[in-house]
Amino acid sequence: MEKTPAVSTLKAGFENSFAALPKKFYEPSMPEPVHGIVLQKYNQKLSRELGFNFTTETPELADCLAGNLIFSDATPIAMAYAGHQFGNFVPQLGDGRAILLGEKITPDGKRLNIQLKGSGRTRFSRGGDGKSPLGPVIREYLVSEAMHRLGVPTTRALAIVSTGERILRPDGIHPGGIMTRVASGLVRVGSFEYFAARGDDEAIHQLADYVIALHYPDILEKKDRYRQLFSSVATRQARLVAKWMQLGFIHGVMNTDNTSISGETIDYGPCAFMDYYDPDMVFSSIDTMGRYRYANQSRIMKWNLRCLGICLQTLLGKTDEEAMDVIDAGLAKFEQEFLWAQKAGMLQKIGIEKPADQDSSLLGELLALMQNQKADFTLTFRYLADHIKQGSDMTPQFQALFNEPDAVAAWLKSWQLRLAIENSPEVIQAKMNRINPLFIPRNHRINKAIEDAENKDDFSQVHLLANVYENPFTEQPDFTDYAQAPAGEERVTRTFCGT
Ligand code: AMP
Ligand code: MG
Repeated sequence: MEKTPAVSTLKAGFENSFAALPKKFYEPSMPEPVHGIVLQKYNQKLSRELGFNFTTETPELADCLAGNLIFSDATPIAMAYAGHQFGNFVPQLGDGRAILLGEKITPDGKRLNIQLKGSGRTRFSRGGDGKSPLGPVIREYLVSEAMHRLGVPTTRALAIVSTGERILRPDGIHPGGIMTRVASGLVRVGSFEYFAARGDDEAIHQLADYVIALHYPDILEKKDRYRQLFSSVATRQARLVAKWMQLGFIHGVMNTDNTSISGETIDYGPCAFMDYYDPDMVFSSIDTMGRYRYANQSRIMKWNLRCLGICLQTLLGKTDEEAMDVIDAGLAKFEQEFLWAQKAGMLQKIGIEKPADQDSSLLGELLALMQNQKADFTLTFRYLADHIKQGSDMTPQFQALFNEPDAVAAWLKSWQLRLAIENSPEVIQAKMNRINPLFIPRNHRINKAIEDAENKDDFSQVHLLANVYENPFTEQPDFTDYAQAPAGEERVTRTFCGT
């Protein structure tokens, strides 16, 4: 196999606005060709949304998604960024195992980045091999696509290629994988930090203009556009974190390099959905202090946004004091927006659209019952919708979520009384079932799919789960087991970055 990929006859219709920035923003980088590839999963629906006319039968497609060939109009680059990892600043990270091929302009006018992940070393690889085991690729594919279907802003997944390589990691040897990631933008808080650490105000100015044009075009002509940029990023992130929390999602590695300026969820490393409700839940094997635990996510996002604000300082005020006031105001807005989004979203989960004074304590009582009795987060809210009518008995499946259902019965009565003034039971139930999913990517299911693929070269669970998670709010009678929480011994308590 050649050391550098040859040019394919396939054309993707790529542009690359990031590569039009000055050279210091990135490094031209070619993927490393690999032997023995198989295109294991191709997201045909996303492919069509992107405006590609490729199918799995398209000659050379698998090779282009493996980095063996380069789409004829690609400009492959690795992006430069820095980042605070677990609170510690690292002045140079960058795409150490990812290569941006280009941007596809979709038929409906969106500009989406197409990136290979796990395709070999770049200038930013430091000590790493630039590769990825199949496991993290499968996890990212399934979870990011599920998040999209759950209504959460997120990067998406176009393809999984197995490379036939053996990837050495501390826990053993794994088969290799490459994912094709699709993102509306890949500039992170850490991208700004990279230039702030170098005192390069001009680059920060250029990058700010770039992300405004890309993600916040409405403020392009505004005199105070940099201040609006900061508060707009804060608003999007506040709504994003609230959405995560309403689904029981724990990102797991909210470093500033994994915080996107676009407001999309990015970097599915040790992420997980919690099964039973516990605000202190942590899954990541490396998050020993619980920095990124479920209930700490808004605080961490605020911390990350402060880092962004400091990078933008010279654009936010004429003096340091003025800039700090703008940053403080932006962070206060974040907090307000988060609290509002979180309260409104959580109350909607219990069928309340028009909040009244007592509603927060009603919600708090339910959460306390869930926490004390280790009730499944997802199913509690989903099954709750079967109990809206006053006096209705607990369904067996709801009752089974609790150790002491009697305590819950009392809560149900007060909830039913409260809902009587809200709307008709049918309307409330339909609304609740549109926001409370039945199917989430549960860790034990994802792990099983990974084990089958890595150990038996069997991708059937990957395909099945991808299908089930396409309709998370709809009952799927053939797949009821996939909605269920893990039985005791099936429970997965640790997830790994896999880097
Ligand atoms: P992550 O934890 O995935 O956000 O990655 C943090 C940083 O480590 C990024 O700069 C990655 O590009 C880099 N990195 C992670 N895994 C590898 C690897 N196997 N080889 C090279 N760089 C890596
Ligand atoms: Mg990252």
